Amino acid sequence: MLETSDMEFERRIVSPERSLTDGEDMELSIRPLTLNEYIGQEKAKENLSIFIQAAKKRQEPLDHVLLYGPPGLGKTTLSGIIAHEMGVNIRITSGPAIEKPGDLAALLTNLSENDVLFIDEIHRLSRSIEEVLYPALEDFALDIIIGKGPSARSLRIDLPKFTLVGATTRSGQLTAPLRDRFGVLLRLELYTHEQLCDIIQRSAVILGIPCEKAGAVELARRARGTPRIANRLLKRVRDFAEVMGNGRITEDIAKIALDRLEIDSLGLDSMDKRMLNMIITGYGGGPVGLETLAAAIGEEAVTLEDVCEPYLMQLGFISRTPRGRCATLGAYKHLGIEQVTVNSEQLAIEI
Ligand code: ADP
Repeated sequence: MLETSDMEFERRIVSPERSLTDGEDMELSIRPLTLNEYIGQEKAKENLSIFIQAAKKRQEPLDHVLLYGPPGLGKTTLSGIIAHEMGVNIRITSGPAIEKPGDLAALLTNLSENDVLFIDEIHRLSRSIEEVLYPALEDFALDIIIGKGPSARSLRIDLPKFTLVGATTRSGQLTAPLRDRFGVLLRLELYTHEQLCDIIQRSAVILGIPCEKAGAVELARRARGTPRIANRLLKRVRDFAEVMGNGRITEDIAKIALDRLEIDSLGLDSMDKRMLNMIITGYGGGPVGLETLAAAIGEEAVTLEDVCEPYLMQLGFISRTPRGRCATLGAYKHLGIEQVTVNSEQLAIEI
């Protein structure tokens, strides 16, 4: 029993998804407000800055923007920055929260000229809602059907011009007609250690946490390329620094704390390791299908795909082949397992 709760605890720490333990106040205070404060994502930032300046010059709303990439990389933050830089208000909602066409109509009719509407998890909008959204995005109008049967008639309501900012972790799940209606598509990438280190030091200053550069470097190395995880580790390690030291996050304190939290030197937690171990010891290094793997370690396939895989693939520890997932030589080495047999798929990967 204790094992399960321990596992849950660890999973939350390095989960890129927003969790209750992040605390709204902390998230708000450390969220960058301007493009200058937003660290990294240089390509996306440069393009966005041009589009914003051009739209402001023409006194028009910014074209609709689609932000995509793994959770915790700063999509919500960027949408707030867009509104701030454009000098307009932002309304925040999410795909699953818009249940009926009427919900969307209420949101759209309450916008002011040039406002930003942010829809998180936009791939989860239902088809009927998408149908209502199309004329709103193209013509800034709502087509409402009044009545039923032969007496039904359509009424067109004009909307203020607005910018839709959609965010998704799965751009592949977006329908083609919806994707085509975005003028600006920005892909967010996992952050480098240096960028994460800057983010941690910035957050530490705002939150008043004394943090040495070497301590921040250690946290950055284990934050899986994700600012949300970096900020969460900072908060957790602060507790260790206060109880075990003088409140200052040093390299040593960071190492001790992260080891205690069972986050290894590359940021892998028990779930990543169980996944790798199962591929290696359960299936001879792979290939093994995702569903089989998920069932074998008692996790949801989507969790493995969204949470573990992007980072393990970035580290080069697993690869996807047409027949399933394979562990690479790097994974064997990191786990300290000797590679006894090499199958043809693995051979192809190593070569
Ligand atoms: P997403 O919407 O992609 O899940 P968020 O925008 O909610 O991610 O960002 C998660 C956290 O990471 C926020 O607390 C935010 O302050 C921080 N963050 C994200 N990107 C950056 C960045 N480029 N610079 C500084 N902090 C960032």
